[in-house]
Amino acid sequence: MFFPWGYVLGGTLRIIIAVGTLMLFLEKTRKNLIRKEFQYQRLTENAVDVIYYYQLLPEEKIEYINPSVLAVTGYSPEDYYADNKLIFTLIHPDDHSLLDDFINNLPHSIEVPLTIRLVNKDKTTLWLEQKCVPIYDEKNRLVALEGIIRDITHRKKLEQMTSLFDRMSMVGSMAATVAHEIRNPMTTVRGYLQFLGNKEKYQTDKEKFELMIAELDRANSIICEYLALSHEKMVNLQKCSLNSIIEALFPLIQADANASQIGASIELSVIPELLLDENEIRQLLLNLVRNGIEAMPAGGNLIIRTALSESKVVLSISDQGSGIPSQVLEHLGTPFFTTKATGTGLGLPICYQIAHRHNASIKIDTSEQGTTFFVYFSQPTP
Ligand code: ADP
Ligand code: MG
Repeated sequence: MFFPWGYVLGGTLRIIIAVGTLMLFLEKTRKNLIRKEFQYQRLTENAVDVIYYYQLLPEEKIEYINPSVLAVTGYSPEDYYADNKLIFTLIHPDDHSLLDDFINNLPHSIEVPLTIRLVNKDKTTLWLEQKCVPIYDEKNRLVALEGIIRDITHRKKLEQMTSLFDRMSMVGSMAATVAHEIRNPMTTVRGYLQFLGNKEKYQTDKEKFELMIAELDRANSIICEYLALSHEKMVNLQKCSLNSIIEALFPLIQADANASQIGASIELSVIPELLLDENEIRQLLLNLVRNGIEAMPAGGNLIIRTALSESKVVLSISDQGSGIPSQVLEHLGTPFFTTKATGTGLGLPICYQIAHRHNASIKIDTSEQGTTFFVYFSQPTP
């Protein structure tokens, strides 16, 4: 019987070729997949934002978190894998309720990005924004959350600064009106107090009259400072010598310091003339000096210096107080922020405004040995 060998051989060959092609195709696809997986892995591993996969069922744990979490929080992915609760312990105490709300209202809560504060390893408070998508299993149970966390501290700081400036300009526009309304009746009351206090029949109460007048003067000085915050204020910049302003003011500063048993001295360098509003610079100097005096116990020393540093004129006021704690430092310049029982919290905001109008910047160097306020005048020096 004739057997169709040729036919069988042809068929087998075709099958071999087909299988071979299929294997080649599968191999190529496998390589492609590996390459793609590698690309995705690199994308997540190198991302600046934190990318995570948080498993909810059967048990809650961080299944994956990318290495950028180390740069953001100070703890590595391994730290998070080793301790499921670590991320929760880092949440700022005031924001625990926000996180609880988010967790209790899943999955609806994920519709709005969660903005929350976190305290990182070196105890700095960060603002984070978290967005995620829900992962469901085949039984439609929410089993995981996949999302990104972004450090928005810088943006928040800018927002805070903007609202600070908004508040300052509001304070400024209110200042002029309020000040007049309050000052006029006060002047009348002060006048009568002085008049009555000098009368023979009130001599036994003279101290009380003096106290009332002193209190009124204090109220008046607060209003003056408040007025100085006025936004519309025009600066009158004129070429003058910063050293001369300091020298002229020094006897007053010395008297003020001596009354609190503080020593005051000046160390002035040869510096070029600057475009200054003399009154404003006097106020800046007095505010910083006052803070320095108030920061020290009796026996302390205050030094006012001028210097030339990298072609910038630097004015500095150093005290030997106990320094400014970081929680106070971050609020400096906010109107009405004060740690003093009788403080107004207006001294530094005024200094910042004056510096701004003079194209100068204020930097602070503080430690337990004392604080120095530097005012850098970035004016073109001739
Ligand atoms: P006030 O002096 O009325 O409190 P300021 O705006 O001048 O208002 O200062 C705000 C706060 O900044 C002060 O209450 C104080 O806590 C802090 N501060 C300012 N200067 C110094 C300094 N030289 N040393 C320590 N703390 C300071
Ligand atoms: Mg002050």
